[in-house]
Amino acid sequence: MATLRSLLAEGEIQLRQAGIDSSQSDAEWLMAELCSRRRAELALHWEEPLASDQTEHWKRLLSLRCDRIPLQRILGTAHFCGLPLAVDGPVLIPRPETEQLVELIVKRFRDRPPRSILDLGTGSGACILVLGKAFPTATLTASDISPEALALARRNGNRCQMGKRIHFICCNWFSTLRGRWDLIIANPPYLTDDEWLSAEPEVRDHEPKGALLGGGRDGADALRTILRGAPKHLTDGGLLALEMGMAQGPTLLAIGRQMGFACEVCQDLSGRERFFLAQRAANSGSVACGRRSVRSPAARSRRRERNRRS
Ligand code: GLN
Repeated sequence: MATLRSLLAEGEIQLRQAGIDSSQSDAEWLMAELCSRRRAELALHWEEPLASDQTEHWKRLLSLRCDRIPLQRILGTAHFCGLPLAVDGPVLIPRPETEQLVELIVKRFRDRPPRSILDLGTGSGACILVLGKAFPTATLTASDISPEALALARRNGNRCQMGKRIHFICCNWFSTLRGRWDLIIANPPYLTDDEWLSAEPEVRDHEPKGALLGGGRDGADALRTILRGAPKHLTDGGLLALEMGMAQGPTLLAIGRQMGFACEVCQDLSGRERFFLAQRAANSGSVACGRRSVRSPAARSRRRERNRRS
C-alpha cells in the first residue's frame, strides 16, 4: 500500500519534471493539505498508509500543480508577512517583494506612526492588513476597482479581526476618493506586455491580467496616474510608497521631483530597484484629520496674508 513517504517521493519527481523549481516544498505543502496536517508534522507520519480515495485526491492535486496552477491557488491560502490570506478570488497572490515594501514602510514609520493609511488596489487586502496590525491606531482605507476583490479583502479583514476598522471603497485609483492620508501604498500593475509574455506560467496563465499589465510602452501608466494624483491626497509630510518594475525608477523620479516631492528609489533584498517613495513637503498647506482634511493654522495665516495683499 502506498505510504505518505512513497507518494511524496513520486509527487516530487512529477513536479520536478513539470519544471517546478520548488518541487520538494510544493509536494510537502500539497501532502500537508491532503492529510490535513501541518507541513512540519509530515515527518512523524512517513510510513502511514494512505487510503485509495486519498491516493486519488493526491493525483488530482499533483496534476493541478503540474498544470502550473500556483500552489496558493490550489490551497486557497497565501501567507503574507505571517498572515494567512484567502486568495480564492480574482486577486493577485501577494508576493515576497511586496512583503519587503511593507516591512520597509513599517521601519520608516516606527517612531511616528501614520494616523491614516490608504491601500490603493488592495487585491487580497495584504498590504492594508499588515500595516493595520503594525499601526493599531491608524484609520484604514482600502480601494479596488474590482468588487469581487473588495469582497475577498473584506473577508480577509474579518478573518484578521480588522474588517470593521477598514473602510472599503470601490474605485479606479483616486477617481472618487476624497480626503488625505499620511501614508498611501500601492502595488499597481506595472508589467510591460513583453514582461507578461515571458513571465512564469503560474503568473501569465493563472493570475488576473488586469492586476499585472501596467499600460503604456514601459508598463508605467498606472504608476504615473497614481503619482500624479497623489498631491491632492497626501497630508503635509505624507508618504506615497509604490512597488514598481526595476526599470521604472528613472521615470518616476523625474515626474516626482518635477512635482516637488522628495523622492527615493529603494532596492529589494536581491539589490533590484523595486520601490519608489515620494514624500510631500511638510509645509504644503494642509494636515490630516481622519479621512477629511483641514488647513493647518500656519497655512490659514499664509492664506489670509495672500488674500490681504491681493
Ligand atoms: N495590493 C495587492 C498586492 O500587493 C494587489 C496588487 C495588484 O493586484 N496589483 O497583493
